[in-house]
Amino acid sequence: DRKKLGRLKKTPAITQDGTEITLLANIELPTDSAPALEAGANGVGLFRSEFLFMGRAGHLEKFPTEDEQFDSYCQTVVSMKGRPVTIRTLDVGADKPLDEDEQTALNPALGLRAIRYCLSEPQMFLTQLRAILRASAFGPIKLLIPMMAHAFEVDQTLALIEQAKEQLRQRKQKFDEDIEVGAMIEIPAAALALPIFIKRLDFLSIGTNDLIQYTLAIDRVDHEVAHLYDPLHPAVLFLLSSVIAMGRKAGIPVAVCGEMAGDVKWTRLLLGMGLLEFSMHPSQLLSVKQEILNSDLTLLEPQVKKVLKATEPSVIEAAMAQLRTLNA
Ligand code: PEP
Ligand code: MG
Repeated sequence: DRKKLGRLKKTPAITQDGTEITLLANIELPTDSAPALEAGANGVGLFRSEFLFMGRAGHLEKFPTEDEQFDSYCQTVVSMKGRPVTIRTLDVGADKPLDEDEQTALNPALGLRAIRYCLSEPQMFLTQLRAILRASAFGPIKLLIPMMAHAFEVDQTLALIEQAKEQLRQRKQKFDEDIEVGAMIEIPAAALALPIFIKRLDFLSIGTNDLIQYTLAIDRVDHEVAHLYDPLHPAVLFLLSSVIAMGRKAGIPVAVCGEMAGDVKWTRLLLGMGLLEFSMHPSQLLSVKQEILNSDLTLLEPQVKKVLKATEPSVIEAAMAQLRTLNA
């Protein structure tokens, strides 16, 4: 079976009706680009940059320097040989503490994490932004910002990116002036107030891991409530489908980079919602591609509408079971 999947490496991910789907890799370190290429990824959809920062203790002076970060980002984009690399700025806190001893917040998932932390440490954030911008002179890089909910967070972030660019101009260092900036959609408020993000940014990437956690109010790392973590909850389905549909209507690219994108159980559901970009762990890429090759959007779309219209779990389950049987 592995061997059969292996043959799909160079096959483009095109549905039976001729729709081309982009398959991207989630990576944590520059060396992960090798398995991403090996799996035939079209690029990196999520570089979780926090892995360069973790395990170094939470003291600012121990963070990787601008040059150290630049080396990692540059190495990644060069090794991807012209394929786009989406680098997510530091997303620490909650399940990704910088330093175990510094876990003091009562509700870390609701605390000073990700972009909130970055905006409270502008020098640290500017250092990362300059490192990413400098690497953008060596290959196609996009900037992805985690955990935004408010318009002012987007505006402050864009202002800091402009400031980092100005610092590089003064130093006469090269970067991509037109670097694309996008937002993770992973807080329900962001999904519900999507025009804030569409108006200001170039692309969106849905983080289903956090979106489900915050929509259902269940801690994603608490085993005691793991049975309540339900991607098929009608509220989750509504948020997912509305972000994908609104993004497409506005002509702004939308990807899914949470675990849902890499699980073949959900491939047809996401395709039927209109998703064109999937980002996942490289090990999942070929099975998802196989499912895409066997799918016909003209058959899936009306069936997914039935899934989305339902609110009773049994009706949703039945409509999902039907979706699996729709073969061209
Ligand atoms: C997500 O929240 O779905 C996501 C992709 O980001 P992370 O898992 O790193 O929080
Ligand atoms: Mg997340």
